[in-house]
Amino acid sequence: MAALIRLRGVTKRYGEGEAAFDALKGIDLDVEAGDFLAVMGPSGSGKSTAMNILGCLDVPTSGRFLFRGHAVEALGRDERALLRRRYLGFVFQGFNLLSRTTALENVELPLLYRGEGRRERRAAAMAALHHVGLAPWADHTPAELSGGQQQRVAIARAIVTRPDVLLADEPTGNLDSERSVEIMGLLTRLNAESGITVLMVTHEPEMASYARTLVHFRDGLVERVEGRA
Ligand code: ADP
Repeated sequence: MAALIRLRGVTKRYGEGEAAFDALKGIDLDVEAGDFLAVMGPSGSGKSTAMNILGCLDVPTSGRFLFRGHAVEALGRDERALLRRRYLGFVFQGFNLLSRTTALENVELPLLYRGEGRRERRAAAMAALHHVGLAPWADHTPAELSGGQQQRVAIARAIVTRPDVLLADEPTGNLDSERSVEIMGLLTRLNAESGITVLMVTHEPEMASYARTLVHFRDGLVERVEGRA
């Protein structure tokens, strides 16, 4: 079976001339569909740069990025945006919810961008909130929810479009250890039940222990890939 994601010799250079900096120096990585990856490594090792490329938010300077066999590096900005909307979901450390908007409306947003009708949006958003255990909180704004609940709303928003891949950047970075364990339990369940591929950046070995594959970055390179299967 072909890998869902395949990176070959991916480099990323920021700046030019004397100021040029090679944040990625030639990354090879295969991600199988249904895997749960933890991306680890020191600050500045290139994790965010790699996640931005994997999330189709940025393009490599050189090298190949195949997603479902399609060359992403050859796509234009609009095509990448379509790919992102169709196949990817994002979860961030700071939740990134709209503050004056209810949980339900926050979760509906990606469907609004897709042009889906109001009834379909409502139904899908309620189902996603139910999935993360927050259906009773649908009418609450983020300020009325705990950090852990806000992150669960953000996860509902990320999965409402039924993406193939969930990209999570330090999803427990703003949470205490009890809430962190809840969030990791939820990501593990989504991965197991829905088969969604999870790519998670984390600094914390305890959170990485939920993943099946550990990818260690160092100095702009993948230093080591550890499978736990
Ligand atoms: P990590 O996520 O592992 O902390 P990053 O991918 O954010 O690492 O950064 C890798 C290196 O690239 C760092 O040295 C950082 O300073 C540099 N870098 C990141 N983004 C930019 C940018 N937009 N312009 C210039 N340098 C950048």
